[in-house]
Amino acid sequence: MRKVSTTLLALAFAMQLSWADNLPNLGGDTSQESLTPTQEREIGEGAMREIRRSGELADDPEVVAYLNRLGARLVEASGASDSRFTFFPVLDSSVNAFAIPGGYIGVHTGLIVMAQHESELASVLGHEIAHVSQHHLARLIDGTRLNPLISLASLGVAILAAHAGSADGVAAAISAGAGYNIQKQLDFTYAFEQEADRIGMQTLTRAGFDPAAMPTFFERLQKHNRLEEANAPEFLRTHPVTFKRIADAQGRLSGLPYRQTPDSADFLFVREKVRGLQMKPGDAVDFYRKTLAEKRYANEAAHRYGLANALYLAGNHDGAWQALQQAKSALGKAGHPALEFLAGSIRLAQGRSAEAVGIFQKAADFYPASRALVYGLIDAQTAAGQYDKALAEIADNQTLYPGDANFYQRAAKIYTRQGQTMQAHKAQGEYYVRVQEYGPAMEQFRLALTQPGGDFYLLSSIEARLRELEAINGKDGKARGMP
Ligand SMILES: [Zn+2]
Repeated sequence: MRKVSTTLLALAFAMQLSWADNLPNLGGDTSQESLTPTQEREIGEGAMREIRRSGELADDPEVVAYLNRLGARLVEASGASDSRFTFFPVLDSSVNAFAIPGGYIGVHTGLIVMAQHESELASVLGHEIAHVSQHHLARLIDGTRLNPLISLASLGVAILAAHAGSADGVAAAISAGAGYNIQKQLDFTYAFEQEADRIGMQTLTRAGFDPAAMPTFFERLQKHNRLEEANAPEFLRTHPVTFKRIADAQGRLSGLPYRQTPDSADFLFVREKVRGLQMKPGDAVDFYRKTLAEKRYANEAAHRYGLANALYLAGNHDGAWQALQQAKSALGKAGHPALEFLAGSIRLAQGRSAEAVGIFQKAADFYPASRALVYGLIDAQTAAGQYDKALAEIADNQTLYPGDANFYQRAAKIYTRQGQTMQAHKAQGEYYVRVQEYGPAMEQFRLALTQPGGDFYLLSSIEARLRELEAINGKDGKARGMP
């Protein structure tokens, strides 16, 4: 795994222990002049491309959906719903979260595992949302009076300039930025961290979470840091927790009513899922067996689900099925979509695809909000050779979720199996458009046009799509842009 991308990007809001006493003026919102929302979005898209290419993106559909649900609840409470937000998990066991321009918020799986309660995870998301809603990057650029491109590079988002194709420009930008107004940047970032803590706690409270989780989590991170100095959570390096920060957070608590907030079942199951993704499958099986035997767990059903998931990842499908039944009985009547998703996945892995179709179908009807179950259903239908049903399911969902790349990727696979190569390349092209890879997208559309068959309407729709992309991105797809 390549660490460079997130580390560089995190620098966008990285801060050092600051000695700033004179806080800069944080009033007013004149920031939009130097960096428009469109520019922020483009910067964010470029950064997301880098992260996706690095293979660090944990695109597990259940984890992605959970983070976006939790994020949306916090965004609404923050009053920042005019900005677009995208939350994404990063497969990394270090404890960190970061915001990049354009409303993209990355959450390390290590942060989810480290959180003892959902409110603790929410407190970090609330902090990151505040960085975005308060336009901290744009204000940083304003405040340091740097040319936006130069200061972005000096902040570590040099990746972007590299994308624009000028390596010399990047080097020059970095060295120009390095010695330039560093003190001022530090003053700003310190003030921004304070502001993000303050607004983040308001958001946390308004969203119905426990505000005391913020200082509690800070304290635990700091303790962890002292115990494992060599292995300090990355969050502490990019967001140093000082005694002052903890004291400030505790101070803000006074006057707020004490509120015990129970963890959602979604959080409990997702936390075990990412714990399993982070460990070697064999190690995860050992961990769950041992902790179950010693009754060391926060929630029995979630822990038994963790064991089932670990066994499934280790390829022990019979054992996984058995452990899953125990998770179900521990949970009781309530049920949870994560258990049905795992049940369908186990049957699919066992080659019992018709049974898997039944499980996913029933669960998707019962839990219509779960897109993971729909992906599972399509995969099971495809494995069972039910191509027409799968394509119909895909078409329905493409109408509902036009920006979702996953449906196009699955369509391409089915068309390939059916020998419909023109449709397959077209679907693959649309997949690439949705992950902002415009060069490969255009290549797929050109390939589609060379395939045999295809009626007039299909051909002209592909030609029109190709022309549209070429007009925005140039024929080589080097520039960025989304039709
Ligand atoms: Zn921060």
